[in-house]
Amino acid sequence: MDSSSASELHLCPLGDSPCQFLHELQSLRGEIDLLKEQVRTDALTGLYNFRFFSDTLPLEMERSRRSFQALSLIVLDIDHFKKFNDTWGHEVGNQVLVLVARQITLAIRKLDYACRFGGEEFVVLLPNTDLRQAKNVAERLREAIESTPLIYEGQSLSVTASLGVDEFRSHHSDTHEGFIERVDAWLYQAKRDGRNCVRYPVIESPVVTTTVTADEKDALFGLFDKKD
Ligand code: GH3
Ligand code: MG
Ligand code: MG
Repeated sequence: MDSSSASELHLCPLGDSPCQFLHELQSLRGEIDLLKEQVRTDALTGLYNFRFFSDTLPLEMERSRRSFQALSLIVLDIDHFKKFNDTWGHEVGNQVLVLVARQITLAIRKLDYACRFGGEEFVVLLPNTDLRQAKNVAERLREAIESTPLIYEGQSLSVTASLGVDEFRSHHSDTHEGFIERVDAWLYQAKRDGRNCVRYPVIESPVVTTTVTADEKDALFGLFDKKD
């Protein structure tokens, strides 16, 4: 709930006491908060939904452009998900989705956005996170999913996922659709490479700067100029 939650509406806005509308206003405010939450939440998993992600990605890309901070995106697709539905039924498929959503929530930070993109595909948006950090999160997540089977009627059903990762930098010119396509291409690479793996572009080594600033030069020459 946001700061305008019903619990904060203690007094009549007109200052009347007793106020005949206060109770009704409080309950309307509560309903609005609930609807706002529902509009951006996936009902099954409790993660953010596609609508929220579509609104948030362009905003975060703009923030990244302005702040010169990297923004990373992970796209995750459950492997052979259809077999859960086909073998054990749709309800078990749904339990797998909830289980994976929980693993995602456990693997990420509070400032990251975990969303159900649709069907058995999820995305995680990681502000202020470069590719190197994001692929570590993705690898941790892949391992967590692999090592957490769904227990159904005493059986242990193993679940795995494939993940693609890439980053957005302020000098990149992609649209948000372009950024998603870029990450999607790495997801498909992971599928082609046999599933249950993480794929991402080559991570360049950090540039080691050899430039010496004017102050550093002065300090250096000062050392040689010293006459003892
Ligand atoms: P791959 O490893 O290539 O990703 O194969 P897959 O079986 O995971 O992918 P595919 O696209 O063939 O199947 C996805 C299935 O997910 C098909 C669809 O019926 C099912 N599905 C989509 N949404 C839901 C849902 O909300 N609940 C359940 N139980 N199934 C869903
Ligand atoms: Mg799948
Ligand atoms: Mg899919």
